[in-house]
Amino acid sequence: MRIPRQFIFTGVCLAFVSLGLADAATPDDPVFRAGAATSNITPSIGADPNVRTSKPPATHVHDELHARCLVLDDGQSKLALVVCDLRHISAEVVANAKQIIQKTTGIPPQCVLVSATHTHTSTGAKLEEGEGVAYYDYGALLPWRIAEGVLRAVNQLEPARIGWGVAEERTQVFNRRWFLTPKRGPIYGAHDNIEQVDTNPGYSGLLRPAGPVDPQITFVSVQSTSGKPIALFASYGLHYVGGIPANTISADYFAMFANRVGELLGADQHQDPPFVGLMANGTSGDVNNLARYSDEELAKRGPQPTKRYQPYEKAREVANLCAEKVTEAHKTLKWHDHVKLTSVQRTLTFKRRYPTKEEVEWAEAVKAKKIKPMSTSRYSTYSTVLAYNSPEMPPTIDVIVQTHRIGDLAVAAMPFEVFAEIGLDLKQRSPIQPLMNISIANGSHGYLPTPEQHRLGGYETWIGVNKVQLDASVKMVDGLVEMLGELKAEKR
Ligand SMILES: [Zn+2]
Repeated sequence: MRIPRQFIFTGVCLAFVSLGLADAATPDDPVFRAGAATSNITPSIGADPNVRTSKPPATHVHDELHARCLVLDDGQSKLALVVCDLRHISAEVVANAKQIIQKTTGIPPQCVLVSATHTHTSTGAKLEEGEGVAYYDYGALLPWRIAEGVLRAVNQLEPARIGWGVAEERTQVFNRRWFLTPKRGPIYGAHDNIEQVDTNPGYSGLLRPAGPVDPQITFVSVQSTSGKPIALFASYGLHYVGGIPANTISADYFAMFANRVGELLGADQHQDPPFVGLMANGTSGDVNNLARYSDEELAKRGPQPTKRYQPYEKAREVANLCAEKVTEAHKTLKWHDHVKLTSVQRTLTFKRRYPTKEEVEWAEAVKAKKIKPMSTSRYSTYSTVLAYNSPEMPPTIDVIVQTHRIGDLAVAAMPFEVFAEIGLDLKQRSPIQPLMNISIANGSHGYLPTPEQHRLGGYETWIGVNKVQLDASVKMVDGLVEMLGELKAEKR
């Protein structure tokens, strides 16, 4: 297989990005500053389908969606970390937001990380849709709202100290891909082929999970020099929680965590500027909050609790548990009066996914009504296979990956729904420890399984929900490890 040239751009944040003129620190006496702000990005719930922008149609808002922004400034360069309460965020929306951010704050694109939480009770923002199509207005509005959040955070920069840590919450993450016991019969894939692994397979007849989970909550905390909490930025490898009524917009457990952790850290509800919590999506492509156990494990555990949760109750439970674990770890944080900020960004070019001969034959037979698909799956239909077989689809996909160094904490940003084992592999190989992984960052290009998981099959490996060459995860992790090596090698 011909591999396209992988790396086409490397950018490093340079000193010239600093705009802190009034109180600019000299290199001998650098002042570390932090500022945080939120910007409301809740879409309209009006009845006009051209204006209203969520799928399925939203008729109510339980809690507002936000772009949550944290800006750090080491006196030479700034780093902007943004988490949006969105299911996905397209590369176009992010690129447009970064252009505005550069104009209004001087922070260059490689020093801005914009991610989506993956809350399913929001919308996916795309720009490519035309006027009159649902999403159009919202996709145009989002870059401005995100950029404004960053500008507000810059406006509120104040001298600060910073610390980071790793907490753990094992009880809320479950791999959702399973090998089944023989009594469950064959598992059928996207083109009625037989696969080895089933995604979200119910709760009995389970043999063993097909992959691990990452129970770590990695976080970074900033407070004013007088000890007032400014912001806490965390990442956990959990898809989302849900349990939210139909047709209702909500930021899910991510925002509940953000609020709860502020309370637990002693942030005053009325402090100025207000505390900002942020919870990003870690590597959770194959991990959700539904407790599944193998038959063997269930026999040991006995009957499982059958609690019926009220709307929002489960999300709040998970949020509170995570916030408590982070607060506990926060008690022993080492605070730094100054750390250096550096970033490395690359564009990786991946070959796009192509259907197999079998898939195309199956899809053509379905189209010609020669066979009826066994599965009425809504995920990957014959038309998806035919679309991916079309020469009109571009042969490659460019994706942006980033690494950032905040003192001795590293951050890796990946524009996919990344499998947990990929994140764990990256954490293990990172020359800077600890490493915080962030998925659905700077774009959203579908699920990212490993080549091994592709061989096992299951929903996330199907063409359409997975868009890139089967070994993309290997190339991405190798690239990120190199980039982390560059950050490690820099003189500080
Ligand atoms: Zn997902």
